[in-house]
Amino acid sequence: MENESNQLHVSFLPVPAQGHMIPMMDIAKAFATRGAKITVITSPAFAAIFSKQIERANQLGLEFHVQTVKFPSTEVGMPEGWENTDAVGYSHNLPKFAEALSLLREPVLHILEKHIPDCLVTDFFFAWAADVAARLKIPRLAFGGTSIIAVCAGEVIIRHQPQKGVSCDSETFLMPHLPGDIKLTRNQLPPHSRQEVETDFAELAIKAFASEEKSFGSIFNSFYELEKDYADFYRNVLGKKAWHIGPVSLCNSDTADKVQRGKEASVSRHECLRWLDSKKPNSIVYVCFGSIVRFSSQQLVEIAKGLEASQQDFLWIVKGDKSQEQDWLPEGFEERMDGKGLIIRGWAPQLLILDHESIGGFVTHCGWNSTLESISAGVPMVTWPMFSDQFYNEKLVVQVLGIGASVGSTSYAMFGEGADLVSRDDIDKAVRRVMAGEEAEVMRRRAKLIREMARKAVAEGGSSDSDLTSLIEKLKQHKAARESK
Ligand code: UDP
Repeated sequence: MENESNQLHVSFLPVPAQGHMIPMMDIAKAFATRGAKITVITSPAFAAIFSKQIERANQLGLEFHVQTVKFPSTEVGMPEGWENTDAVGYSHNLPKFAEALSLLREPVLHILEKHIPDCLVTDFFFAWAADVAARLKIPRLAFGGTSIIAVCAGEVIIRHQPQKGVSCDSETFLMPHLPGDIKLTRNQLPPHSRQEVETDFAELAIKAFASEEKSFGSIFNSFYELEKDYADFYRNVLGKKAWHIGPVSLCNSDTADKVQRGKEASVSRHECLRWLDSKKPNSIVYVCFGSIVRFSSQQLVEIAKGLEASQQDFLWIVKGDKSQEQDWLPEGFEERMDGKGLIIRGWAPQLLILDHESIGGFVTHCGWNSTLESISAGVPMVTWPMFSDQFYNEKLVVQVLGIGASVGSTSYAMFGEGADLVSRDDIDKAVRRVMAGEEAEVMRRRAKLIREMARKAVAEGGSSDSDLTSLIEKLKQHKAARESK
């Protein structure tokens, strides 16, 4: 461990949502591994979810502290502890969630003023973070949890408005200036950029972008070689500063680390591994749509029928309301699929699963964490984007990297709510393309090559490792300059 005067103290403030908190904890670990002292500022509910991970980091000799701050649920008219319920994942609750994030400014400032850290890393969505950091005279780093292509594409949409040049929502348009000949339809954009509708959440995003501009820079959970053209575009065309330090999930090399990410898994690691071990290499398609997507019963039936028709072995993670659990399964499905398919209801140890040699493909909503975890494991994807950055991530996977096949989802649906139905035939076709035949072989070979690139990036001297080193050096210089004043 470094001596106190040299040691960097970095405070992390994630948004209380699994898809944001999980990578931020990995980033914090990467900093801690370089000798930094870490304070994670989060709600009591999320501190409890991540307590095992934090305990383990401390056992490994890393210096992790937690500072809890009450999430202002009741203040915005929601029940106590609301951030740890599925209610956050409903789009009508987003304005309240946005309001709660802005109310966190004063209590977080109060915490930071007591022990001023050397750097504040916050989620992109804390629009007030740059001002707070400026007041404390410390650098603020923004972390959005998305791919670089997504941020670049988002900027192109705002600056050049190519979506306005088409006559209907389903007509494709080319993203001007953006490398890679990326084409989209207006249907695939969030409502506010599609119809110029103002929403509270869009307003928050605009403020967050302004705050990012005033920050020290951004951190991306990605690596240069993966998104080279977009990393260059971000720096040279958009003129922004970023450090690419991913894939951060690769810091979890141990089984315990892989299992203890996010919520408690609904299946024991032994049971899960026993089932996976009983299968041949590359023979299982893993089906999971992140932490928030909820499907209608009708869509779940289509997935069941599509998987059955594909004749592939599968491991399917189902989330949803308790009331939905039994009703939707097609008659006799579980009996017919006995031994062939495993359904886990709840939370899966995703990293452990993806890293298992029996996994040959991943049906994913293209959340950036899932996408990058699949890339890091060398697993080709069936892409099924629904909202946020997912349509851009699909383009990266299918078109730029050539390691995926699309189910053909055509319209933006926040958290999957009211999404157009994807048919069993389309699911069956896309699963077969990724799992069987010559095209699948080509994708798999490419995916394995990219996996090696990912590993090299985080290994000593690799691009992400070097970027982290240079970021830490910059933060140390900043600390020294501040302390000498
Ligand atoms: N995850 C998991 N088990 C699950 C579902 C999700 O471990 O059953 C993890 C997954 O590995 C990833 C994160 O939760 O790290 C989901 O993030 P992503 O960006 O893919 O999607 P989001 O949940 O934000 O839509």
